Amino acid sequence: MDTITVKDKQFRLSIPEARIQAAIQREAERINKDYEGREPLFLAVLNGAFMFAADLMRNVSIPSEISFVKLASYEGMGTTGKVKSLIGLPEGIRGRHVVIVEDIVDTGLTMLHLLETLRAQEPASISVCTLLLKPEKLQVDLDIKYCALEIPNEFIVGYGLDYDGQGRNLRDIYTVV
Ligand code: 5GP
Repeated sequence: MDTITVKDKQFRLSIPEARIQAAIQREAERINKDYEGREPLFLAVLNGAFMFAADLMRNVSIPSEISFVKLASYEGMGTTGKVKSLIGLPEGIRGRHVVIVEDIVDTGLTMLHLLETLRAQEPASISVCTLLLKPEKLQVDLDIKYCALEIPNEFIVGYGLDYDGQGRNLRDIYTVV
């Protein structure tokens, strides 16, 4: 199906499953080479990265671990508005080679915040592995070592990413019409 409806919006097929899987395999192979002998700790960011993390890990062949974190929004006490706190961070990040597994980097503000929080735990190294990047929207200077797919500045759904809670189960990625 090339056009679908999720809630009140129409979406058209933009990245088919086979292209997603090929891109993931390519990045996993790079990781296998770069992290040989370093036993990386993958930290996947819920909810959006759940499907990407599963497929990435099936292509990772070196000894490694995976854990899942979540950024929870809550209203701050002061005038700063929304503050995001990181929950689920495992013990023992210090000295580890951490690879953050994220669904999409848009403005990059979420990733910047995540990197700052993780750096405080003194890992040996941190790199970013994102399924998707919107280069036109990036507002901050980020070093994204592994990026499976670059996309234009349009809203997408599917393969873990939602529109108003729905569409995460779609095997392909769709762009809003
Ligand atoms: P950033 O902080 O980089 O602007 O935003 C990152 C977050 O925004 C992602 O983790 C994701 O939850 C959400 N996001 C950004 N662009 C899209 C999009 O096109 N579709 C969906 N479903 N979420 C998006």
